[in-house]
Amino acid sequence: MDVAQALAAARALGVDRLDAQWLLSHHLQRPRSWLLAHDDHPLPKATAQLIAEQLARRAAGVPLAYIVGEREFCGLVLHVSPAVLVPRPETEMLVDWALEVLPEAPARTVVDLGTGSGAIALALASREPDLQLTATDASADALAVARGNALRLGLAVAFAQGSWWAPLVGQGFGLAVANPPYVALGDAHLPALAHEPASALTAGADGLDDLRTIAAGAPAHLLPGAWLLLEHGHDQGPAVRAMLAAAGLVATQTRKDLAGFARCTGGRMPAIGEAIDEDLTTEAHG
Ligand code: GLN
Repeated sequence: MDVAQALAAARALGVDRLDAQWLLSHHLQRPRSWLLAHDDHPLPKATAQLIAEQLARRAAGVPLAYIVGEREFCGLVLHVSPAVLVPRPETEMLVDWALEVLPEAPARTVVDLGTGSGAIALALASREPDLQLTATDASADALAVARGNALRLGLAVAFAQGSWWAPLVGQGFGLAVANPPYVALGDAHLPALAHEPASALTAGADGLDDLRTIAAGAPAHLLPGAWLLLEHGHDQGPAVRAMLAAAGLVATQTRKDLAGFARCTGGRMPAIGEAIDEDLTTEAHG
């Protein structure tokens, strides 16, 4: 079997051409552009057999990231397993937003809640080496993946097992970020995500259960002036802004991803002076 035949086999199975090229490029350790110019390159028999098996798994809906065991996020190659959600390009936007607010953060302590593969925490650690990063996850298996990634990439993150803020009693942060599960139970997209952990995807009947928990716990764990930035579903912006406001956060805003879908909402704790100003305003009018 050569490269062209492997790509033809992929097409026959209904596997996306780009996925098939990624798979071949992974096994041959060559860029995709090389494949195009070398479609008569013969594949060693064992490689051809492995690729045939993996194309069949891809055709059955297994994410390519699980098949090859890795996915790139913010320029970092992360190991992934079915214990963690596959990092999505949309989530890079949350990292960009975090980098944007960091210069004004009241402290260089940052927490990534529900870190999964460690994607967000590690991306921040790689861009801002002086940050003190903490990452939590309820899943021990997910934390093992995240710890492995931190070790391999040589990035320092303190990991803590537990649900959302639970393992962080008494700790206050200068910034908090999370890409929690936010898909509603019974959502029409879930069958397409069946190979990923349900615990990383779904959150109650409206998909907002975990976002509510995170918003409610924020004031006890954010320093004055600290931002909380959350990823969510395209129709959840108003609900998330409302829950942040109800928790006492200000400057709440929602941002769209590159596809134009509302994707992230943030708010920050009032700064100390700001809280006093608000009290004065209330008094003046009251
Ligand atoms: N963005 C993912 C999807 O719908 C869901 C990730 C999440 O729930 N955090 O494909």
